[in-house]
Amino acid sequence: MSEPPGHACGVFGVYAPGQSVAHLAYLGLFALQHRGQESAGIAVSDGETITVVKDMGLVTQVFDERRLAPLQGHLAIGHNRYSTTGSSSWRNAQPVYRSVGDAGFALGHNGNLTNVLELSDALGMLPGMLEPELGLDSTTDSALVAELIAHEYPPEPRSDGRDLELALERVLPRLRGGFSFVLLDDARLIGVRDEHGFWPLVLGRIEAGWVLASESAALDIVGAHYVRDVEPGEMVVIDASGIRSHHYAPPTPKLCLFEFVYFSRPDTNLYGKSVHLARQRMGEELARQAPVAADMVMPIPESGIPAAQGFARASGIPYGDGLVKNRYVGRTFIEPTHQLRGAGVRLKLNPLPENIRGKRLIVVDDSIVRGTTTRQVVAMLREAGAAEVHFRVSSPPYRWPCFYGMDTGRRSELLAADLSVGEIRDYLGVDSLAYLDLDRLVAATGADGEAFCTACLTGDYLVPVPEADTKLALESPPEPIAELDGFAPTSAET
Ligand code: AMP
Repeated sequence: MSEPPGHACGVFGVYAPGQSVAHLAYLGLFALQHRGQESAGIAVSDGETITVVKDMGLVTQVFDERRLAPLQGHLAIGHNRYSTTGSSSWRNAQPVYRSVGDAGFALGHNGNLTNVLELSDALGMLPGMLEPELGLDSTTDSALVAELIAHEYPPEPRSDGRDLELALERVLPRLRGGFSFVLLDDARLIGVRDEHGFWPLVLGRIEAGWVLASESAALDIVGAHYVRDVEPGEMVVIDASGIRSHHYAPPTPKLCLFEFVYFSRPDTNLYGKSVHLARQRMGEELARQAPVAADMVMPIPESGIPAAQGFARASGIPYGDGLVKNRYVGRTFIEPTHQLRGAGVRLKLNPLPENIRGKRLIVVDDSIVRGTTTRQVVAMLREAGAAEVHFRVSSPPYRWPCFYGMDTGRRSELLAADLSVGEIRDYLGVDSLAYLDLDRLVAATGADGEAFCTACLTGDYLVPVPEADTKLALESPPEPIAELDGFAPTSAET
């Protein structure tokens, strides 16, 4: 069974009395569009009523002035989604809203939980029976979390209004896997990261209040300044009395290394390091590790640009453009079907024959996942007259599926899963191929080498992966692990 590829989502939150929080959330989501293009949504509270607007599509397709204007309030959360758990449909759009008695809350989730079956068991639910049994409006693990939270609400509303916080304190330690959450109730904005901090979440300050965002670049766009990362295992609560922090688990930071390689915007900082500069250093390292005589270093735009710049700088070989990217086409990789992805490559990239013809090219990209794009690009370059194509990848072979929030498909869909570098070279039709070594990649980030999840590159799953594939596990009976195409977890829980 082939599933749609997925992507870490984007989340945003703002607490700013007197400001148009819906417009700020809109801008924040727009800045985070690259993290999810399937659906977008905003929930706003005015202190009494929570209103959610969400739909399939890009942020600019879902929201216009007509839809934003009625979203009045002093706090808001927003979410861009690409499906990880659950199928691609309207009812899986986020934020998820859940009413509890006269109250309610909304939740936006970036990540994927690995213990959904255990959690749904605890609620007395069977996979595939969630909706009829409990009336959930969504099949995502995020809706399950909302359900768990609702179950932990105090029976009587608390006089201090901290019901959601209290419920979260009970639920969070039970969750496994990857999650950066933004939540709101009538009066509070809450941000949470899992104990490993697989996915980023930062706290920012604007004049009138506070902002939470998946990436620091989104803070820049709404005029907020970076305060700090929400820590792994931390819940921050923002309300009229200010900001407070609760640590529900000791932090063991393991940020997704692929945030540095590909996901994050280049103008984002991770672990206090510029992603753009890190990617350039990756290219420099690659030039030192795998040099080759050539006439021009060119990127696969846009993802390969900083690494190609670094490669050219370190090798002394001129940098040039060999492909033009249509600026209005999104990332082909996250189109929901294989067929669409195939068509997308030609829509997206077109060669510049005058720059390519007769040249020995070093072509640099950040990663090869399925190989679909790369193979077509190589064929286009050859057609356009390249004399030689030497492919250089600024990360190691992508061999293992991610279970914590980035759905690159099953193991069998990953080009490098069972092929050697020589076999991949032949499949792609290139003259030479090299991938950046893991230790060089980690060094290029400039961050602490221990503080990364590298499961997709090493198979080292820090949090045990589910016995059954969690993807769609809430919709249909789980498949046994044996069907995961030779998938074999190699590490135990820390
Ligand atoms: P392919 O040759 O089809 O594996 O596509 C490789 C391209 O996908 C590279 O340009 C990468 O920048 C990009 N890519 C890598 N990881 C992801 C991801 N998780 N989501 C979307 N695109 C990705």
